[in-house]
Amino acid sequence: MATGKSKRGPRFARFLLAGNKSDPLVVLRSATWNYNSIGLFAESEALVVDPGLSPAELALLHARLTTVESPQAPRRISHMVLTHAHHDHIRGGASFEDARVWMPRIAAEKGPEARGRILAAGKALGQRISAEPPDYPWPKVHETFETKASFVLGGELEVHLHFLPGHSNCTSVVVIPALATLLSADYLVSPGVPFCRHEARMFEGALVDLAELVERYSIERLVPSHGPMHLGRAAIDAAISADRSVMAAMRRAVRGALDTGLSEQKVKAAALAAADTDRGHDAGRLAAQDMDNARRILREEQG
Ligand SMILES: [Zn+2]
Repeated sequence: MATGKSKRGPRFARFLLAGNKSDPLVVLRSATWNYNSIGLFAESEALVVDPGLSPAELALLHARLTTVESPQAPRRISHMVLTHAHHDHIRGGASFEDARVWMPRIAAEKGPEARGRILAAGKALGQRISAEPPDYPWPKVHETFETKASFVLGGELEVHLHFLPGHSNCTSVVVIPALATLLSADYLVSPGVPFCRHEARMFEGALVDLAELVERYSIERLVPSHGPMHLGRAAIDAAISADRSVMAAMRRAVRGALDTGLSEQKVKAAALAAADTDRGHDAGRLAAQDMDNARRILREEQG
């Protein structure tokens, strides 16, 4: 409940980055789920990426982006990127009416059943955080892409979108080359406990591709959709390595345990133990995700 007594985050939203002329990136940390709403501005235009979560937080993000370093006229929110179709990420999809909305094609074209499931989960979150109204419509998307896309914000700031499935089958990440910044969506939200909600093998491939993007664009700041930013190449590489290493350790343990004919229960236990050893501690409150990763790897290795 959003009572403010939760140990999982602050009671009020706050800006991790408030944006200024030399670094026009805005990161608003939500009161819920350590969620980061992200914005970027250039000249008379601004971009929002996965804006959320409560109406008050959306209003705060809007106000900041339209007025910061814009003394004469309020800036226009001209673009929105929705990195993937999970319910928290598309929550603000209908809140910025003039924005040109970008989304991976496979995310934008989810069928009626998937949309219903996602919007129902979104409504449940809305009720939990007392959003009024709690529900929201499926976003209207103007620009879809298969592998990559790009646009220029305010006539000067290039923004690149890269499809990177694995966390979900529809996830993408955002690169702002001039700021050496990558917005990683739900990758690296809790390094050491990979946040895989789709296929483990695809997730492992995504981490390889993510490392390649970090190298190609000389990324020095990586902002995930939940939790702390990773600042500096060493920290970014360490976060990617932590997830790759844990996935590899779990997969080795699953293979070994299957080879010796252990029960599924014991195979999963071996995977969890291997993950704990690899990262040097247990998954704590993320134990359910750890178990989920073990289950996904087991399914593939049984394949
Ligand atoms: Zn997600």
